[in-house]
Amino acid sequence: MNLHRTAARAVAVTTAALLPLTLCACGSGQDAADDGRVQVLTSFYPLQFVAEQVAGDLADVENLTPQAADPHDLELSPARTRDISTADVVVTLHGFQPAVDEAIEARNPAHVVDAADVVTLLSAEVTGGEEDEHADDHGDEEHEDHEGLGGLDPHFWLDPTQLAKVAAPVADALSAVDPEHAATYAANASALVDRLDALDAELAAGLAPFAGAELVTNHTAFGYLAHRYGLSQVGVTGLDHDTEASPARLREIGDIVRTHHVTTLFTESLISPKMMDTLASDLGVATAQLDTLEGLTADKAANGEDYVSIMRENLSTLTEGLNAK
Ligand SMILES: [Zn+2]
Repeated sequence: MNLHRTAARAVAVTTAALLPLTLCACGSGQDAADDGRVQVLTSFYPLQFVAEQVAGDLADVENLTPQAADPHDLELSPARTRDISTADVVVTLHGFQPAVDEAIEARNPAHVVDAADVVTLLSAEVTGGEEDEHADDHGDEEHEDHEGLGGLDPHFWLDPTQLAKVAAPVADALSAVDPEHAATYAANASALVDRLDALDAELAAGLAPFAGAELVTNHTAFGYLAHRYGLSQVGVTGLDHDTEASPARLREIGDIVRTHHVTTLFTESLISPKMMDTLASDLGVATAQLDTLEGLTADKAANGEDYVSIMRENLSTLTEGLNAK
C-alpha cells in the first residue's frame, strides 16, 4: 500500500522533468540520448548509495548532506533549496531532516521517494534508542531533530534489509522520469537487493555467536542493527549526537560494563570520541570505532569504500570488540 502511495506521487508529475533537456549544454561529445541526464538528489548518504546503485551511469546523483557532515541537523543553502525544484527525483526520509521536508513542501519536486513509506521504522524504545527512565536526563531540546518521526528511530539503514526496501521505489521513480531505461533501473535495483541480502546473511552469521551481547555505543544509531542481529544496544547518549550524558547515566554505563564484562565501548566516525575515550579509560576498557553510515568520510570515499564495504568493516569491528555470551 505504501508502495502505491509512492507510485501515485511519482505519477503525479509535471513537465519539470523535461527542464534539464533545455538547460543542459553537455558538450562532451555525447550523442543526443545522453543529453538531459536525470538529476537525483538524496538527503543523506545511505540513500545516495541506493540511488547511485539503481541509477548506474544513467543519472547524476548528488547528496544534500555535505560529505562527512551530520545529517541530523542539516541546513540547506538557498542554492540547494533551488536544486530541489529542478531535481527529477528526490530521495529522503520524511521526518528526519526538517529542512529537507520544508524545501520539498515549498518546491514540490517532480518525484519524491520517501523511505518512510517503505521501510519499517521502529520505535526508539524497541531499538534501544531511548528508554523512558532516561528521558529526564535528556530534557526536551535534544529530541527536536526527531519530532517529525514521533518517537521513531530514523537509523533504519543500519539494517541492510531495511535499506533494500528503498531500491524498488527509487527504480520506479527513475523509470517514470526515464521510461526508456526502466528495465535497467529494475535490474539494478534487484542486483542491489541481492547484494544487501548477501550482506545481511554475512552479518547474521558473523554476529550469531554474540547474541544478547551488550553493544555500548555513543549515540544510539545502531538500534536497527542490534534489533536484527540480537544485540542489546546501550547508548551513552540518546538518538541525537549533541546530547551530553549526565553523571547518573555515566554511572549506569559503568554498572552495565562491569556486570556484563563489556570489553569495548564503540565510538563513531562522525563524532568526537573524547567522551567515550574518557569513559573507557575510567572503566579500564578499550574503544573501537564503528561507522553509522550517516555520512561517508572523505578518506573512505577516496578509498572507494561504500555502504557495503563499511558495513563489513563494522562487522569485523563488532566481532573483535563484543563479548560473546
Ligand atoms: Zn544518528
